Amino acid sequence: MELNENARVDTSQVDDRRGSGGGGGLGGIPIPIGGGRGGIVGIIVAVLVALVGGGFGLNAMTGGDGGASQGDNTQLEQKCSADDALKQLDCRNNLYVNSIQAYWRTALPEAFGEQYKASKTVFFSQGVNTGCGQADSGVGPFYCPADDLVYIDLTFYQQLADQLGAKGEFAQPYVLAHEYGHHVQDLLGTEAQMRRQQQRDPNNANALSVKLELQADCYAGAWAKNATGTADEKGQKIFKSITEQDIQEAIDTAEKIGDDAIQQRSGRPVNPDEFTHGTSEQRRQWFTKGYDTGDPKSCDTFGGSL
Ligand SMILES: [Zn+2]
Repeated sequence: MELNENARVDTSQVDDRRGSGGGGGLGGIPIPIGGGRGGIVGIIVAVLVALVGGGFGLNAMTGGDGGASQGDNTQLEQKCSADDALKQLDCRNNLYVNSIQAYWRTALPEAFGEQYKASKTVFFSQGVNTGCGQADSGVGPFYCPADDLVYIDLTFYQQLADQLGAKGEFAQPYVLAHEYGHHVQDLLGTEAQMRRQQQRDPNNANALSVKLELQADCYAGAWAKNATGTADEKGQKIFKSITEQDIQEAIDTAEKIGDDAIQQRSGRPVNPDEFTHGTSEQRRQWFTKGYDTGDPKSCDTFGGSL
């Protein structure tokens, strides 16, 4: 993968809350998926574990004070307008976000006849207040449907590399594209429909969650296929190239965070009833389907059952 050094990083799509001390505390209280606090928390936790399969532990998502704290992009702007911006992890991730949203701005109306509504990515460290409650880094990257924001502590990638062995750079845009897949599901109403279906049919709550997650993987694949066509505001291409090896890195990451792989790694017996995100094989399959077709309409993991 090669990024275009002439592409401008649009930092207005990021809310940099690192170092703002927004959050922390309240760690270590596990909330079971679908349990307790009504639909929203159930869904959030389901989304939260998307990329870590719960392997890093689910920490508290309590309260819900509306994600009031706002970041300060001054430093990020300076850094990402410098010549060597793309050597910086945060500027690269900002640019991935720009590419993913540029894709959906065109693809959502084309595929589904809906206007895309932009969603910022919040960079945070350690802990953050969100519209879905307070989260700490242990939960991994997530999307919060209540405030329409993607949240990531960028140190997650180090965890991904060290603990799961997903070392390739392309794991990063894959992670972000998966989270934006959830934003698209929110815009299309898929996520709300899925949640209602879970309430009607609680025995199938996990199976429905798997379908939502696999669809987000498929949407990530559709972006990956079209990413070299995305451009910044001035029409500069964001990627110079994306190679087969990059795609393999995304697939490799998808496989490493399959429910069965996560359970095995944690030394637990593999129990399909506990799957919430899909097996390694399913995650590979659906990312690949999105990539091969390049068409988000092909991502019908629900098979018309919603
Ligand atoms: Zn997810």
